[in-house]
Amino acid sequence: MRSLNNVKIVFQAQPENVGFARVAVACIASQRDDLTLDVLEDIKLVVSEAVSNAIIHGYGNDPSKYVTVECTLYDEGIEVVVEDQGTGIEDVAKAREPAFTTNPERMGMGMTLMEALMTQFEITSKLGQGTRVVLFKAFDHSDSQQDAAED
Ligand code: ATP
Ligand code: MG
Repeated sequence: MRSLNNVKIVFQAQPENVGFARVAVACIASQRDDLTLDVLEDIKLVVSEAVSNAIIHGYGNDPSKYVTVECTLYDEGIEVVVEDQGTGIEDVAKAREPAFTTNPERMGMGMTLMEALMTQFEITSKLGQGTRVVLFKAFDHSDSQQDAAED
C-alpha cells in the first residue's frame, strides 16, 4: 500500500488530550474527500477508546508520561497506532473479551468497540513495558462495488 500521509503525535497522558488525538486523526482521515461520515465517526470513536486506555490504564493519568499516536493514510484505508510505555496488559485475550475490565467503574467495552468497528485490530503488550494497539479501517468502496455488481 502506498502511504499518502503519515503523522506522528506525542502528548502527555492527561484526559484533555483524548479530544486532541481524536481531532488530529479525524483531520488526517478527512484528507480523503470520499470519506463517509459513518467511517469518520467510527475512527474518532476507536481513537478515543485506545487513547483513553493508554492514559487511564497504561499510565494511571500520570501527565509526566507520554502517549504516541501514529496515523497513516492510504488509498485503501487508514491505520492508527496508539502506544504507551505503561503498565502493560497481563492477559490480552482476556482484556479483549466484552465487558472485561480491571476497573469496576468502567464498562469494559473499549476493545469490543475497536474489534467491531475496525477492519483490523491488533494488540501487543508486555507487563511493565507498555501496550501497542494497531487499528486499521478500510475505506468503504461499497458504492463502487455495487456499481460494478449492477453492471
Ligand atoms: P471502557 O473502555 O468501557 O471504559 P475498559 O477501559 O476497562 O472500559 P477496555 O477498553 O475494553 O475496557 O479494556 C479492557 C481492560 O484492558 C482494561 O480494563 C485494562 O485492564 C486493560 N487495558 C486496556 N488498555 C490498556 C493499556 N493501554 N494499558 C494497560 N491496560 C490496558
Ligand atoms: Mg477502555
